[in-house]
Amino acid sequence: MTEAQRPAGHRKMDTSAKRRMAFAAVAVTGVATAGAAGAGAATVQSAEQGDATVTLAADSRVLAQGSSTTPSRESAAQILAVPPVQKIQDLSAQLSSTLDFNAARIASDLLSRTPQTVKPTDGTFTSGFEVRWGTMHKGIDLAAPLGTPIVAAQAGEVISAGPASGFGNWVRIRHDDGTITVYGHMQTIDVTVGQQVVAGQKIAGVGNLGFSTGPHCHFEVYPDGVNAVDPKTWLAERGVEV
Ligand SMILES: [Zn+2]
Repeated sequence: MTEAQRPAGHRKMDTSAKRRMAFAAVAVTGVATAGAAGAGAATVQSAEQGDATVTLAADSRVLAQGSSTTPSRESAAQILAVPPVQKIQDLSAQLSSTLDFNAARIASDLLSRTPQTVKPTDGTFTSGFEVRWGTMHKGIDLAAPLGTPIVAAQAGEVISAGPASGFGNWVRIRHDDGTITVYGHMQTIDVTVGQQVVAGQKIAGVGNLGFSTGPHCHFEVYPDGVNAVDPKTWLAERGVEV
């Protein structure tokens, strides 16, 4: 219930009161279309009638003016609050902007949950996941100078670090999803079994040990921990080109 409605509802509705209400209704329409200027005009018009005083206020300034210049009468003062006009012409643009923001936030959130993957070493791709010399080459070779850093492809736990048949030395890392990555032929090893590493952390230096014809990093991937897959494909699916 507004201030305008309350007095009429609780007072005897004589002819004069009905006239005032009718005038107020007309005046409100005028204010709605004419704004503050209309409110001022309505106050003047009411005072000239000498019947009822209707103070229409679009804002506090107009209300103050009306109160000081119009005669006080017990049932006269009626304050009609005009709700502020809401601008909705930009609503569509605002909504679109909000949707764009949410889409970007969701994409960012998903990306942050995806394990970061990096190239195991900054080397040249020389051999792929293929049968070579009559046996299956279960990894890829990245040729690089002796000592070039070999890094963890993803975060995980070191489960092997030391000599291994054919590899000279190897490092194996088990990642959060159970995938195991293997790195071979390294000259130096920087990690120990049980150590937690992050993606990109140096774990070894490129070597030429074991079954190797030149300095390179041999890299294997076992998504289920047992069966090797093509590391080039596995890396590519994670945004890493070799
Ligand atoms: Zn190899």
